[in-house]
Amino acid sequence: MNARADGSIGDRLRLVLDRIDRAAETSGRGRESIRLVAATKSVSAERIREAIAAGLRFAGENRLQEALPKIEVLRGEPIRWHFIGQLQRRKVRDVVGAFDVIHSVDSLELASEINRRAGEAGLRQAVLLEVNVGGETTKAGFQPDRLEEILPRICGLQHLDIRGLMTIPPPVGDAEQARPYFRRLRELAGRLSHQVVSAASMDELSMGMSNDYTVAIEEGATMVRVGTAIFGMRHE
Ligand SMILES: *Cc1c(COP(=O)(O)O)cnc(C)c1O
Repeated sequence: MNARADGSIGDRLRLVLDRIDRAAETSGRGRESIRLVAATKSVSAERIREAIAAGLRFAGENRLQEALPKIEVLRGEPIRWHFIGQLQRRKVRDVVGAFDVIHSVDSLELASEINRRAGEAGLRQAVLLEVNVGGETTKAGFQPDRLEEILPRICGLQHLDIRGLMTIPPPVGDAEQARPYFRRLRELAGRLSHQVVSAASMDELSMGMSNDYTVAIEEGATMVRVGTAIFGMRHE
C-alpha cells in the first residue's frame, strides 16, 4: 500500500519519483514532461520543507487560509505553488497571482472572475479546466459535452492562460479501474485541442493521485497530484 507510515518523507518522496521515472520509461514518455505536484493539505510547513530538501519542487494546496501562511513561511525555498482545491469566487482575488496554476476551474463564472481579478492585477493566470469524467452528480467539474460547448467563451478570456484539463475520477477499488477515466480525459483534450483559439492549449493533463498515478502517467498525465504516498495518512 502507498500509505505506509514507515520511512521518512524524503524516502517516500524518492520512491514516488522513482515510480514516476519507471512509468515514464515503460510508457515511452520523456520524464521531463511529467511533474510531481505534492498534495500538501494538512501537511505542516516543516514537513513540506523536508520534502523540498529531498527534491520536491511543486506543491498543491486546497484551501487558501491554510496555504497562505505556509507559502509565507516557505518563501525563499525552491518550491512553486499550485491551487488544486475547489475555489470559491470570493477567494479568487487572493488566489490569483499567489499560485502558478489553478487546477480547479469548474465553471464559466469562476473562469470569468479569475479573468477579471488577473486583469486587475495585470497578469495572466495559468489555469486548468476541471472535468467531471465520471459524470457524478456530487462532483465539481465541467461535464465533457458542456465544456466543448463553452470552451470558445473561456478562450475569449484574455487574462487566462489555459493550459489543459484536470480530473478527479470516481473512487475505485483498484488503480486499473481508473484507467478509462484517465483515457477519457486525454481523448477529450485531444478533441478540444482542435477547438482552442489564441494562446490556449490542451497540453497539460492533471490526473492521478497516490493510488493510481502510474496508471495516469501511462495514459498521458503531465501533472500527478500525490499526497498520502509522500506524507502518510492525513489526520484531519
Ligand atoms: C488530496 C488531493 C490529492 C492527493 O490525494 P492522495 O490520495 O493523498 O494522493 C490530489 N488531488 C486533490 C484535488 C486533492 O485534494
